[in-house]
Amino acid sequence: MDEQEKQRIQQAFKEKMDYNELMNCTRCGFCLPSCPTYIETNQDEVHSPRGRIALMKGLVDGVIEPSDEVKRSIDMCLGCRACEPVCPSGVQFGHLLEQARDAIYQTNEQSFIEKTTRSFAFNHLFPQQQRMRRVTNAIGLYQRSGLQTVAHKTRLIRLLPKELRTMEKVLPDVPKRKAMKQRPTHIKAIASKRKQVAFFSGCLMDTMFMETNEATKKLLQYAGCDIVIPNTQACCGALHGHSGEQDKAKEMAKRNIQAFEEEEVDFIITNAGGCGAFLVDYAYLLRDDSDWKERAENFANKIKDISSILMELEFHQLDLTLDEQVITYQDSCHLKNGQKTFMEPRQLIEAIQGVTYLEMEDASRCCGSAGIYNIVESEMSMQILDHKMEKVKETEAKTIVTANPGCLLQMKLGIEREGLSDSIRAVHLVDLLLEAYEHTHEVAPS
Ligand code: SF4
Ligand code: SF4
Repeated sequence: MDEQEKQRIQQAFKEKMDYNELMNCTRCGFCLPSCPTYIETNQDEVHSPRGRIALMKGLVDGVIEPSDEVKRSIDMCLGCRACEPVCPSGVQFGHLLEQARDAIYQTNEQSFIEKTTRSFAFNHLFPQQQRMRRVTNAIGLYQRSGLQTVAHKTRLIRLLPKELRTMEKVLPDVPKRKAMKQRPTHIKAIASKRKQVAFFSGCLMDTMFMETNEATKKLLQYAGCDIVIPNTQACCGALHGHSGEQDKAKEMAKRNIQAFEEEEVDFIITNAGGCGAFLVDYAYLLRDDSDWKERAENFANKIKDISSILMELEFHQLDLTLDEQVITYQDSCHLKNGQKTFMEPRQLIEAIQGVTYLEMEDASRCCGSAGIYNIVESEMSMQILDHKMEKVKETEAKTIVTANPGCLLQMKLGIEREGLSDSIRAVHLVDLLLEAYEHTHEVAPS
């Protein structure tokens, strides 16, 4: 890091950090035991919430200089926000982390490859649903054409970087492009109508995990919801917001607010903890924008996770059955720490006849997925995942349930790494619930 770069970063910290929020930290240390990176680094303060806040404040105050070590500490944070609910001063660490990353990544020197990759992902891929479909379609062709089998048999797959190689193994079977494109924007309740809802379909969830989105809509229909799916909606912007791209995140937020405020609905439903928590945070993201602040608040107040609305509409009272099995649940950090939703998924699983629900130890500790963390910080991510899998194995569960696509892939990766693919499966909560519903009820073909 040269002198000019240091000065730019220091200035950006002064401009972008919420100093009052930094001052809220009393350095009590109550958050330390909740922090996965503090635990995994044998209690290194630099990789704790308190240490990170001290570094951020030191930079703003000018008592420390930007350095590779400081950047490393910020990069190594999972953004899991497990430090928030345990903080007696109510420090909103997630906001501080987003501001710190924005200060670093909007000013630091980046290699050509890093700059190009970030620009492609943040400007040209995630915000453009058509491109997401094209990329997903290409993955589908790779899977269905036999290329994937050939790549594995000939070991050509080894040409991929290790991090991508492991992820490739656990990708879901992706849908065909035609199936992704041809879907209705209005769907009627199957049971008598009780609520009018909008569905936030997301970018990754509506391509790579399209089946889970379709399952979510079916559950809403069975629970008595008329559904509208605005086709002008966009990616939630979480990946941008968490990776130092605040301006782009605000742009995505405005697109979504506009797309949904035209609809008269009781709630906007999400099925991905990471997206939901970011949508709820639009009010904070746009707090300084007088044209959008109130609109963002109205939007945020309507966000509800699928598990919450299903409990509210008493979906768990319906006849739900599965073959006898032990099931455990891995919290989505953002669903729990951002949307404060953690009882509802458990209650829904427990309502299924034939299921023995077993809580795993540290179920709310991050699994190491954290957006693209498992690719860019693979070593730490795998260390966290291996410890998570130890806890899974202690439950002897045959099914691990999660409520976020990143967690789902990470748990599938954990199963693969343990060589347990024949005996354990990982599923999204809505896929499990639909399976349990259709196990018992006669279902009309869709
Ligand atoms: S618990 Fe809160 S106030 Fe205490 S050190 Fe952690 S962030 Fe600071
Ligand atoms: S967000 Fe997670 S990893 Fe980062 S400091 Fe808080 S608890 Fe630690």
